[in-house]
Amino acid sequence: MRLFTISLLFLFFFVSNAKAFVKEIAPGVFVHLGKHLDIDEGYDGDICNIGFIVGDDAIAVIDTGGNYLVGNQLRQYITENFKQPIKYVINTHAHLDHVYGNISFDEVVIYGHKNLPKAMQLRANIYERLNEKYQGKVASSSPLVLATKLVEIGQDVDLDLGNRKITLSAYPVAHSEADLTVYDQKTQVLWSGDLVFIERTPSIDGNIHGYIKALQFINELEISQIIPGHGIPSSKEYATQPMLGYLMTLRDDIRQYIDDGKSLEYALEHAVQSEKEKWLLFDIQNERNVNQVYLMMEWE
Ligand SMILES: [Zn+2]
Repeated sequence: MRLFTISLLFLFFFVSNAKAFVKEIAPGVFVHLGKHLDIDEGYDGDICNIGFIVGDDAIAVIDTGGNYLVGNQLRQYITENFKQPIKYVINTHAHLDHVYGNISFDEVVIYGHKNLPKAMQLRANIYERLNEKYQGKVASSSPLVLATKLVEIGQDVDLDLGNRKITLSAYPVAHSEADLTVYDQKTQVLWSGDLVFIERTPSIDGNIHGYIKALQFINELEISQIIPGHGIPSSKEYATQPMLGYLMTLRDDIRQYIDDGKSLEYALEHAVQSEKEKWLLFDIQNERNVNQVYLMMEWE
């Protein structure tokens, strides 16, 4: 009987959690987990982590999803459950799955890395074609909305949400050229954007060396939990060690192949195979990474 009651409790917990749009992973820190789908595998705009932080006077939204439907869901959840206004939206970088929901918050001040507007505009053509291909009509109702408040590298910005400060930090080129993290001083939670992937194979759209440096920098911070761009929020070690393992193996393998005169084709077939079993969507993403990093490191 007792076992039955416990099982029922677990079932209730699971069902009620599965239903909730967001999960409170630390006091006042809410995350909606995106699905692990590749862009080329039935992309629906809901594949990355988005969410918000609640202060006494205001709420900051962090990333808005890949279209207005996802953005609206987030906004609706907030307005139905909290009386504080949404005062800030923060974009962690320019990738389509994280920013095309900005339109749902178009009257709110949007913060981003100093390179963010340019990065978003440069990618707009490709992203809008992808959005249209995979999301049809939804795409035309999700136009690009750019950040207007920009954070310089080395000049952190503190935002006050009322008895709660969050710190925005802009990084030199790493996962992309516009990576920005959000640190909640109250709970020491770090919202890393795609500087951290958990479970899902990391993607590199910036600079492999800068990426490794950014993770080493994050490793030195006082952090209770990391909310990655993709994957389950986790401890700092659990979040950064596998990332560093993957990226350093990628860097070292490719350095070795280039030094040995091996071709890009050879690298595509052999690089980082030791990591294959550790990550989801490995083959498709690893191939993109090898391509990117080989061409960059060839000239170093
Ligand atoms: Zn992403």
